[in-house]
Amino acid sequence: PIAIHWFRRDLRLEDNAALYHALKSGYPVLGLFIFDRNILDKLHDKRDRRVHFIYQEIKRLKHELEQLGSTLIVRYGLPEEVWISILKEYHVARVFANRDYEPYAQQRDRMIYTLLLSNGIKFSGYKDHVIFEKEEILKDNGQPYTVYTPYSRKWKEKLSDFYLNSYPTTAYLNQLYKTKPLPLLSLSEIGFIETQYEYPSREINTAIIANYHKTRDFPAVNGTTRLSVHLRFGTISIRKLAHIALHTNEKYLNELIWRDFYQMILYHFPFIHEKAFKPEYDNIKWENNEDHFKAWCEGQTGYPIIDAGMRELNTTGFMHNRVRMIVSSFLTKHLLIDWRWGERYFAEKLLDYEMGSNVGGWQWAAGSGNDAAPYFRIFNPQLQTDKFDKQYEYIKKWVPEYNSAQYPQPLVDHSFARNRAIERYKAALEKK
Ligand code: FAD
Repeated sequence: PIAIHWFRRDLRLEDNAALYHALKSGYPVLGLFIFDRNILDKLHDKRDRRVHFIYQEIKRLKHELEQLGSTLIVRYGLPEEVWISILKEYHVARVFANRDYEPYAQQRDRMIYTLLLSNGIKFSGYKDHVIFEKEEILKDNGQPYTVYTPYSRKWKEKLSDFYLNSYPTTAYLNQLYKTKPLPLLSLSEIGFIETQYEYPSREINTAIIANYHKTRDFPAVNGTTRLSVHLRFGTISIRKLAHIALHTNEKYLNELIWRDFYQMILYHFPFIHEKAFKPEYDNIKWENNEDHFKAWCEGQTGYPIIDAGMRELNTTGFMHNRVRMIVSSFLTKHLLIDWRWGERYFAEKLLDYEMGSNVGGWQWAAGSGNDAAPYFRIFNPQLQTDKFDKQYEYIKKWVPEYNSAQYPQPLVDHSFARNRAIERYKAALEKK
């Protein structure tokens, strides 16, 4: 009999909670990764950068396991069907995985839990993706926090070395199941095509973390760590990063706490993917002008900072946080387009797409979120540019024609749009 470690958002061998417990279970451990058709079949772009990224990481992981005399089972299909065939092919005694807090993942894991249990197999889940999960940080009355500042205070009070210690998985890798390498599906066999794209490095740059409070807001500067994709897929350990942050820069640690916060919010309030956290915001009468939406997506709004951000996203799969805030405010307030349209577009394009942070960011911008900007606070794209891209370095990189006759006129006038948004929001909120 063997134990299976099911890799999902934890594509690494080192400091991996569930893998550690699997290796200590007394059974030889074999790894599994499933290219999930429930997710992949919904992706229209066959050059999806995330799928390619995952594919490369799976290849690396499989190679690492093979260097240790083991291998990785890689399957493509519906998780339930894959598990049914795995149970026929292997004598599985136990299954281990790290928890995932997105609604689909929760539902999938419940289904697999039941399936395994009906075969007499225990499926154990572990916290690995965040420092504090679910009910670990609650208000004194036992309710989840919905506001970041008191949440982060409690988070910091509760933090101790215990939560940051790494799991010494590498010391137990001799417990891996020894077997010949298994074949690996090709990317085209799962319906995708390679992209020519350089992914951000998984090296942690401590100099950036040390200066983060000074550099984080300037999109032209290489002043943020670009580790989001690695945190998303677990190619680095959040414990390792939080440990460095704790000893280096509190401002940086605060961002990691935002990440925990949004995952916790999504876990407790899974409806926020579809509905406003504050229900009265679903009364807003959006313009939802399709031409405006298209211009925004393509970076052709006539507002250089917006267009730079959208072009950065379309070209690289990344957008600087400051610019994410500006473009999301612009879509929801200036263009009065439903935040869900923007959320979906980001979901399609962002390499680091993660439902908790993305929905959190969008509802924050739209004013409808649990800890959102007040609705009447509307970013002025010009003032944001003057503050954060004063020399137009970021703009020149992405919108070199911004000052020429080829560049489009602004889609909407700023003061007109500002007043319209305030009135429209007010009307919706008064309906309450
Ligand atoms: P750094 O500034 O170096 O921060 C380090 C890490 O902290 C990030 O990698 C990320 O994991 C976390 N982090 C930083 N800021 C935030 C934040 N505001 N909320 C949650 N976590 C944060 N982040 C995602 O990971 N996935 C998303 O889908 C996503 N969508 C967003 C949508 C909008 C509208 C907005 C305003 C923000 C969104 N963010 C999202 C948060 C943030 O913009 C990115 O995490 C950040 O830009 C990633 O770059 P970095 O790795 O260089 O971050």
